[in-house]
Amino acid sequence: MDGQFIGREAVAAKRKQYFYPCTQHFYRDAPQLVRGSMQHVYDENGKKYTDFFAGVSVVACGHCNPAITERTIEQLRRLQHTTTVYLTEPSVLLAERLESVLPGNLRRTFFVNSGSEANEGALLLARLHTGRKGFIALESGLHGRTNLTMSVTGLSMWRTDKYLDEDVAFIRRPFDPELTLAEASEISLADLKAVLAAKGDTIAALIAEPIQGNGGMIMPEPGYFRAVKELLELHGILLIADEIQTGFGRTGAMFAMEHFGVVPDIVTMAKALGNGVPVAAFAAGDEIAASLNTPSASTFGGNPVSAATALAVLDYIEAERLPERAALLGARLKAGLRELQDRYPALVADVRGTGLMLGMELRGAGSAESAALTDDVLEDLKNQAYLVGKNGVGRNVLAFQPPLVIMEEDIDGLLAALDSTLARLGAQV
Ligand code: PMP
Repeated sequence: MDGQFIGREAVAAKRKQYFYPCTQHFYRDAPQLVRGSMQHVYDENGKKYTDFFAGVSVVACGHCNPAITERTIEQLRRLQHTTTVYLTEPSVLLAERLESVLPGNLRRTFFVNSGSEANEGALLLARLHTGRKGFIALESGLHGRTNLTMSVTGLSMWRTDKYLDEDVAFIRRPFDPELTLAEASEISLADLKAVLAAKGDTIAALIAEPIQGNGGMIMPEPGYFRAVKELLELHGILLIADEIQTGFGRTGAMFAMEHFGVVPDIVTMAKALGNGVPVAAFAAGDEIAASLNTPSASTFGGNPVSAATALAVLDYIEAERLPERAALLGARLKAGLRELQDRYPALVADVRGTGLMLGMELRGAGSAESAALTDDVLEDLKNQAYLVGKNGVGRNVLAFQPPLVIMEEDIDGLLAALDSTLARLGAQV
């Protein structure tokens, strides 16, 4: 079967010729992936890689998991697409199912196709509900590629539009490598208080990832979001939790806001909900959802194939207890990464995150050397058949976010490979 592929060189050349030049890549020598099976992917030569990136937290249930793909195929054969003017079963069953896993009174779901679109919808809903225009967002957050979601994105590398919405107040993130989490949280809350004092009555919502993914696996101290929510409530401002990267078990809880004991006003979801099939949503309670009171429909949002897939995903997460699994295996991986940090203090600055959303920050944040060292680690691990990601403001944080079906032996194998990579690269610096 692998013989029918055009080959890595041809794929690389065509990508260079026909894609936009900005198309992102991590590797100097990227593998061509042609097949996936649970925690593994294969290149065109049949080389097997263990995937510790999962397409940025997407395939939480594993690549081509038959428990899910069979139900996608079944729905594809029965009824592929209609519009919301008709009644179809999968999307209403999915909405009902989401209500059962979402916190508080978040009973209403609006289906769309991507994370950006879910956040765009949530921001619009907040404006309609409050009658206000402004937003508050966190430094180094990432919320999407549309104009409004890019406007609330703090990470400068993703803010490509020169004409972004200027009615966004950024507050410092509750993390600073030089400070304790408690101190960083105080500073962030002080920023928030200052914005609220200056123009609280013009703000519709604060949008935040409970744990920043692309910002570098930033998890605030436990009390941070409770304090944020209380301050927002004093001014009638909504809290939008962007659970696009953190949702559906990744962090050891169904949704990451559970770690903070906070019920947001609006929750946005995408990525793992479809395990690789596009499906996204924003959820709210009755009263807030009623504010979206103009005719509104999405051509592909909630289509039967995506909805049937997402139902299979939720069944699988529940049957296999993936949040518990992420917590357990994440603790093993984190302990191993910490051990490597102790053994390679000249290379590793920090290990952080929770569940199977972990980051290892390399030393020299902000320097070209540190970003290059990160790329060297990625390349070397890839050569040893392990795929990991990278993120962070300085692009120097190794990202470990594997499918949640990963096995203990995969984790031990990755740690051994990373050990030899760090030893090799450490000897060179
Ligand atoms: N929010 C977060 C937290 C994300 O990680 C991403 C994608 N990396 C997005 C929003 C945007 O999602 P999409 O690429 O599906 O539009």
